[in-house]
Amino acid sequence: MQYYSLNKQSPKVDFKIAATTGQAPDKGLYFPTEIPNFTKAQIERFKTLDKASLAFEVMKPYVGGTIDDASLKQICAETINFNFPLIEVTNTIFSLELFHGPTLAFKDVGARFMSRCLGYFSKQLKEERVKLNSSKGQAVVDNIKDTTVLVATSGDTGGAVANGFLGVAGVNVIILYPKGKVSHIQELQLTTCGQNITALEVDGSFDDCQAMVKEAFMDADLNKVYNLTSANSINVARWLPQQLYYFFAWQQWIKEFDENTPMHIVVPSGNFGNICAGMMAKASGLPIGRFIAATNTNDVVTRYLHSGKYEVRRAIATVSNAMDVGEPSNFVRIMEIMQNDFTALKNTLASYTVDDATTRAAIARVYKTENYLLDPHGAVAYVAAERFIIDHAVEITMHDHTIESLPVRAVILETAHPVKFPDVVEEAVGEEIEIPDSVKFLLDKEKVAIPIAANFGNFKSWMMNKVSA
Ligand SMILES: *Cc1c(COP(=O)(O)O)cnc(C)c1O
Repeated sequence: MQYYSLNKQSPKVDFKIAATTGQAPDKGLYFPTEIPNFTKAQIERFKTLDKASLAFEVMKPYVGGTIDDASLKQICAETINFNFPLIEVTNTIFSLELFHGPTLAFKDVGARFMSRCLGYFSKQLKEERVKLNSSKGQAVVDNIKDTTVLVATSGDTGGAVANGFLGVAGVNVIILYPKGKVSHIQELQLTTCGQNITALEVDGSFDDCQAMVKEAFMDADLNKVYNLTSANSINVARWLPQQLYYFFAWQQWIKEFDENTPMHIVVPSGNFGNICAGMMAKASGLPIGRFIAATNTNDVVTRYLHSGKYEVRRAIATVSNAMDVGEPSNFVRIMEIMQNDFTALKNTLASYTVDDATTRAAIARVYKTENYLLDPHGAVAYVAAERFIIDHAVEITMHDHTIESLPVRAVILETAHPVKFPDVVEEAVGEEIEIPDSVKFLLDKEKVAIPIAANFGNFKSWMMNKVSA
């Protein structure tokens, strides 16, 4: 399996190069040269495989031999060592809870997989170099630069990346986050790791952080002394393992329903990496009904599906802030899966836009009527699911000429724990949310962050000093 750049100007590479460089030299996103085709018999077997074995079988073709089987098995097992329960909220809407990982956000899976792959490749490189040196009769010198992951975060990504890379040998992580603009728990998740994780508290906005990171990647001096890479969702090692959620959903779905009940899936979407991974799973043979992209008022894709016009806009701030994306970077991958066929796309993907007032009201309503607490992103998905179900009601005429409607059922992906967005959720339900034990320990920890002005010059000299130190 190889990867080509969607800009088609760069050479094909293997998984190792795609994962360690992130983006192709022509700035295109990498895409696999072939999508695996799981046979009916394989899919049948997937029904009852344990999570780790299933993860291994799904990821193996994409890794394409760049990681040995035993190591890949271990990486997969470590990546998904928590639960992904499918919860019945109503008799037609089910919630796949993706927030049981260490930082309570679905981004944990991608971050954990990617970090372990980079750790593997870094170790391999060092071993090869040592072998080469000793075969030449030279002194064994360990002169390989560590990999440095630079990442700007508006909240969730930083925590997942910090946690995923913590303690991974040969990889250092530098996280830039905007001062005062992430929630308290999110900040603790970024700033209390220590070891190979460094947090920079930037006196500016998320856009400033992102601009500083982008400039660093292009800076000749920094690239001379650092082996820089990025950990955002365009990296195939972060994007592809997200397919696993859909396999885990289906394993649980198939226990409740027969093969004729389609599993439609509603995905709260920002950069469209998660939903795009789901579409890869379907393209490789997993029986999924329709995909429904749920967006907040940053709705370029919803408008595109209705009008055929793709118009990007500046991002607007909403209560589901992890989806505040004006120009979703993974949408080009969705078009590639659909072979740029707009009709095929419309038959596979529906999309609904949900505004903040409706999102807040849904959190309150679902808590009251179903006793289920949604986070703002899950609430956007929930409302989209309700609308999809109404729009797709199927009525059939029975033998006695009465009309019955067949239930349409959908799974929403709950992408974050409500406690990560306490202001919005507590205001909606009028109650305090209990902090889960898995993050309670953070409250006693001390934040360690390096304050820095929002300008690249300062950032660069800090990076250069760090090398000579
Ligand atoms: C990142 C994120 C999303 C959006 O996922 P994409 O893959 O960017 O579409 C949705 N919900 C939460 C909580 C997130 O952190």
